[in-house]
Amino acid sequence: MAQRVIEVYDGEIPMNEKELITLGGVGQKTANVVMIEYTGANLMAVDTHVFRVSHRLGLSDDKTAIKTEATLVRKFKNNLHALHQGMVLFGRYVCTAKNPKCDECFLTEFCKTKETFKV
Ligand code: SF4
Repeated sequence: MAQRVIEVYDGEIPMNEKELITLGGVGQKTANVVMIEYTGANLMAVDTHVFRVSHRLGLSDDKTAIKTEATLVRKFKNNLHALHQGMVLFGRYVCTAKNPKCDECFLTEFCKTKETFKV
């Protein structure tokens, strides 16, 4: 990756998701996270938190992160960077993989899986 950055991009990390994914070890999620964090780009990145929260809230029933990303982009269209960051934090601290804090959740009425956790 570093060699390509030096040889092709004069040592500057390209701030374009299509160029970022040409770097070794950088996939679509990582490229989108870089663009979201460094430029506030209107992109969605589906990590484990976004994937889990999307499915629990019935926003996606897609089997892959890439398809979930496409569904979220199609449904929300704007402010995707803020949605991404909110879903990551919500998944990290409230709607956790094990023992989600359903009794503290403000999205219970939209949840498709709360019965699983006995809300
Ligand atoms: S009710 Fe529980 S499982 Fe459903 S979104 Fe909230 S924290 Fe997640």
